[in-house]
Amino acid sequence: MRFKYCPICGTKLVEKSSWDEGYVPYCTVDNIMYFDTPKPCVIVAIVKEDKILLLKQSYIFKDSKVLLSGYVANGETVENTVHREVFEEAGICVKDIKYLGSEYLESKEIIMLTFMATYDSGIVKKSSEVEWVDWSNIEDALCEMKEDEIGKRIVRKVLKELGYTEGIAYRCE
Ligand SMILES: [Zn+2]
Repeated sequence: MRFKYCPICGTKLVEKSSWDEGYVPYCTVDNIMYFDTPKPCVIVAIVKEDKILLLKQSYIFKDSKVLLSGYVANGETVENTVHREVFEEAGICVKDIKYLGSEYLESKEIIMLTFMATYDSGIVKKSSEVEWVDWSNIEDALCEMKEDEIGKRIVRKVLKELGYTEGIAYRCE
């Protein structure tokens, strides 16, 4: 987001030259530059043998399941975010977190840091933030996520990692 006013004191920002980023909105009162950065968010594909954890959130997609996701909070590492969001939304613990790359969501100025993780412990327990959450057969995931293009890109990477290179897992493609 391109800031026009200081979110701390409300002063109209001026453009100030930063050494390597060009001109950046700047508050002369608080002496802060407001860089035009995206909001970081994690999206996690959790795998348990031949199952993957999917959620239903009608406000995101009416007729698709999605992967678990959440915003990075200030003060935590991205790895912490993965553990925290998985525990908050699904009540389980994960291990072996692996970074799969990033996806930029222009309409919401979100940078999605994508991960896969292995189930470690706990029983899936839906939080009040989530409409539905449970294990799905990993071979059904692409069919069940039809509207979620970003989620499907991540699942394709996970399938590849797990050695599903062709066959029934791709029947809905
Ligand atoms: Zn200010």
